[in-house]
Amino acid sequence: MYYIHPTECIECGMCESICPVDAIRYADEVNEDEEAFVALNAEVFRQADGSLAEPGGWKAGGPSLTDPPALSRLCGQKQSN
Ligand code: SF4
Repeated sequence: MYYIHPTECIECGMCESICPVDAIRYADEVNEDEEAFVALNAEVFRQADGSLAEPGGWKAGGPSLTDPPALSRLCGQKQSN
């Protein structure tokens, strides 16, 4: 999953405009079914080691984020609906 830093994103729209699967939303466009993904995105940064979770903490070549187990459960629920 692609993760967006919840406090660094300025909602410029660049990634939203190029996402090939239309998976990125502005905060005010998130519907009820998608809110769990927003919460999961924020949780991944909270759980990240080191300074990755802090604004400005990500550096090119730095550690990558790991998909949490809850993601596969969420995707499974979405597919079965
Ligand atoms: S909208 Fe996308 S490209 Fe723009 S700041 Fe947020 S994550 Fe980065």
